[in-house]
Amino acid sequence: MSESILHAELAAQLAQLTADGLKRRRRTLDAPCGPLARVDGRDLISFCSNDYLGLANDPALIEAACAAARTWGVGSGASHLVSGHQTPHEALEMKLAAFTGFPRALLFSTGYMANLGIVPALVGRGDAIFADKLNHASLIDAVQLARAESQRYAHGDLAALERLLAASPAKRKLILTDAVFSMDGDLAPLPGLLELAERFDAWLVVDDAHGFGVLGAQGRGSLAHFAIPAAQRIIYMGTLGKAAGASGAFVAAHEAVIEWLLQRARSYIFTTGSSPIMACALASSLELIAHSDARRAHLWQLATQLRDGLAGTRWQLLPSPTAIQPVIIGDNHETLRVANALFERGLWVPAIRPPTVPKGTARLRVSLTAAHSTEQVTQLVDALCDLA
Ligand SMILES: *Cc1c(COP(=O)(O)O)cnc(C)c1O
Repeated sequence: MSESILHAELAAQLAQLTADGLKRRRRTLDAPCGPLARVDGRDLISFCSNDYLGLANDPALIEAACAAARTWGVGSGASHLVSGHQTPHEALEMKLAAFTGFPRALLFSTGYMANLGIVPALVGRGDAIFADKLNHASLIDAVQLARAESQRYAHGDLAALERLLAASPAKRKLILTDAVFSMDGDLAPLPGLLELAERFDAWLVVDDAHGFGVLGAQGRGSLAHFAIPAAQRIIYMGTLGKAAGASGAFVAAHEAVIEWLLQRARSYIFTTGSSPIMACALASSLELIAHSDARRAHLWQLATQLRDGLAGTRWQLLPSPTAIQPVIIGDNHETLRVANALFERGLWVPAIRPPTVPKGTARLRVSLTAAHSTEQVTQLVDALCDLA
């Protein structure tokens, strides 16, 4: 194929995305992460970030990062198994294990990489994966990499999962789920999933990207929310770029699981260790998370305010008990129109469309943070009511 034909094909595919209302565009944020954003010289109130506790720009984290840079420099210089595993990384892993109640934790550079590493390291040909239909893209990609037999069960449907598990002859079984579904904000039925994992001798991988730091006593996450102890068959993945306000992820589990991941997870082994600055900032973030009851209480108050404010209007919220409050619109173009109208009024709410969500369920994904004020949420409610 000649180069020009290749380019023409891509141009046609891009034009199709535009026609379908699926073309993405980036906006350059000219400010630190927070409720007040600046884009193209305009001031906006942002409901986009996953910085649920408002820690991304917290003075304590900034101080920890600056001090870390002076002590440890900027880069780790190598992968963790060569020489990129430094004292701050080791200390952070210990803290994460203690915080989540698991025997051991392993730090990854991102949640995407953690998921891509965990699944193929634990299962392969001859094994079986059972995944919730609304799992995050990183878990879907991880399943592809694993080459195990995989089956998807209807969202949160324990009876459907039970049937699949009962019919499976696989020797090793792995149940994969988001704990808080990233585009719907609802919770996986974790106690029921654990019960099935125990009954059918399966592993349970819990991706708590949106629960860690936010749910449960002291923000210990979705397992804590359900008062589930750190069971041996649970593999807990938490990300550190959302409520923790920095970047990275970790897996916490039984000692043998962690040692095996360290030996075999390719996205752990074949990548440069994350910056020691990040590890130090995250240690500081963990302290803040544990002492952020007031931030969490404020966050839940804002969620109630939004839900009450939109009740009985044309805007259809999902039954989400978390900081993620999606307004379902359905049509891609209509969703974009509403998002643009809000933007014109100084309110930045992302329009989420397929393939991130199923076709016909395009939505505004309102994400609330403890850094928002009641007045800012009032502005959003008022603008939405006006547009309805
Ligand atoms: C954001 C997210 C990830 C990816 O985490 P990153 O650290 O951003 O790579 C994984 N799983 C879920 C459910 C997420 O929402």
